[in-house]
Amino acid sequence: MKKVFHFDSQTDLYRADACVVSCFDARFELVTRKFLKKRGVWWADPLKIAGGAKLFASPADESERSFALSQVRTSMRLHRTHRVMLMVHSDCGAYGGLQAFGGNEEREAANHESELRHAEAFLKSNIPTIEVECFYLRFTGVWALDPAQPDRVLDSPATSQD
Ligand SMILES: [Zn+2]
Repeated sequence: MKKVFHFDSQTDLYRADACVVSCFDARFELVTRKFLKKRGVWWADPLKIAGGAKLFASPADESERSFALSQVRTSMRLHRTHRVMLMVHSDCGAYGGLQAFGGNEEREAANHESELRHAEAFLKSNIPTIEVECFYLRFTGVWALDPAQPDRVLDSPATSQD
């Protein structure tokens, strides 16, 4: 191999402020970076997958969910991560975009809130010690979900994504 670029990266190991599970949709790359900085998350282990938190809530395939879960566990083991930030976003292709909700942003938001709740419940049931925060990214900013009320989350029925 030959060197094609010079850059000095930090060599010290770090403790991750959070493992950030989000979609790889590049339109939300900048807002995510700025938001994390604003929240004081300097060292993040990003888990960028199509649909983001959808993988924990309504995975296309169960093996995808196990894989994502193992990635979170690896982040905890390698970087002592104690918090997961779950994200979904508006007009996400993994959900069929905004058009899957008839172009209705409120319907989409309601669906995505439910998805975040299910993703959180799944994570907490598999990794009880993990702290979970849920966020919905829209084209005008970031919305945070109120902390979960465990009883309600477990009782709420699964919602369809159409
Ligand atoms: Zn997406």
